[in-house]
Amino acid sequence: MTTHNLLLLPGDGIGPEVMAEVKRVIAFFNEQGPDKFTFDEGLVGGACYDAHKVSITDETMEKAKAADAVIFGAVGGPKWDKVDYDVRPEAGLLRLRKDLALYANLRPAVTYPALASASSLKPELVEGLDIMILRELTGGVYFGEPKTITDLGNGQKRAIDTQVYDSYEIERIGRVAFELARKRRNKVTSMEKRNVMKSGLLWNEVITALHAREFKDVQLEHQLADSGGMQLVRNPKQFDVIVTDNLFGDILSDIAAMLTGSLGMLASASLGEVDPKTKRRKALYEPVHGSAPDIAGKGLANPIAMIASFGMALRYSFDLGKQADMIDEAIAATLDKGFRTGDIAAPGEKTVGTSEMGSAILAELAAQV
Ligand code: NAD
Repeated sequence: MTTHNLLLLPGDGIGPEVMAEVKRVIAFFNEQGPDKFTFDEGLVGGACYDAHKVSITDETMEKAKAADAVIFGAVGGPKWDKVDYDVRPEAGLLRLRKDLALYANLRPAVTYPALASASSLKPELVEGLDIMILRELTGGVYFGEPKTITDLGNGQKRAIDTQVYDSYEIERIGRVAFELARKRRNKVTSMEKRNVMKSGLLWNEVITALHAREFKDVQLEHQLADSGGMQLVRNPKQFDVIVTDNLFGDILSDIAAMLTGSLGMLASASLGEVDPKTKRRKALYEPVHGSAPDIAGKGLANPIAMIASFGMALRYSFDLGKQADMIDEAIAATLDKGFRTGDIAAPGEKTVGTSEMGSAILAELAAQV
């Protein structure tokens, strides 16, 4: 039997509340098999600052590096608004992403049938939607040098950000995109701005060459990122996997998120290199939402994004696609039966709390075996 070692980092606010539901799902799969999960836990964000005056300790970083996957809740909250920039809660997450070199950010946008009316788009446009936005996470304009604001001395200032990509960075994210597509509907749409940006030209060239060399069986199309954004809200179901750079991915993944209704439903994964020894990728799984201080401690948070993030770990770190499908189906069935936390309830609809939603999902999981 294979055993996987997880590091759970619940964080702040609703993080620990939604992580508690993941622990119940882990216990379920430990009983059902086929694989076993052990886990260690650590502090991150404000919780870690309160205990150690840093947002993540070196010891926890070492555990994260050694783990088969990191499962992350959320960090932040008004309590830590005034702490030094370097030790603010988000710095813990940024260090994890950086030190684990997590260059591929996967953001699925899935509309569960029961929630199609919660989208800001017409239900028929989003019903059955299941697309994946793949964002390059460690390069591009957020990190490129020079990155400065200069006083020009004439009452003007000049700000410079640098968009920079090396071909290896484009190729490795492209490879993730094609491999993902092979396990989905076999289509990749690459988005850049080759009409006005050199980095867009190189992006297009590298993705095209990689496709011709290794992935001819996958359908590839190119769209300019601006018209791609338009297509995303005009006809989102035309897409399967969208691969794009850090800046465009930041924007397009948030647009795609809103197609599905609520923040409480959105899972994500960030993947790094494959370790040549263990053949495992460094990986961190987290809900897209934050620590929701407005509802923290009240047992009201929707645990679906967190549970679905664990489902992504099963699929992308442990090759347990069947078990990941079970989670997705259990979530869909729970929603079909009318269970709603406050964030996804229509006006007047009855709502349940975090653990009740968790129990309903566990019951649906149990019903599948
Ligand atoms: P947020 O995602 O925490 O909350 C936005 C709104 O969505 C709130 O009304 C909240 O109640 C609701 N919401 C979010 N998740 C929910 C869930 N699972 N169930 C039900 N309702 C949910 O974003 P924010 O309010 O902008 O930020 C709050 C704190 O979280 C800030 O400190 C911010 O920096 C931090 N944050 C952290 C992360 C992260 O850890 N990755 C991401 C975003 C924001």
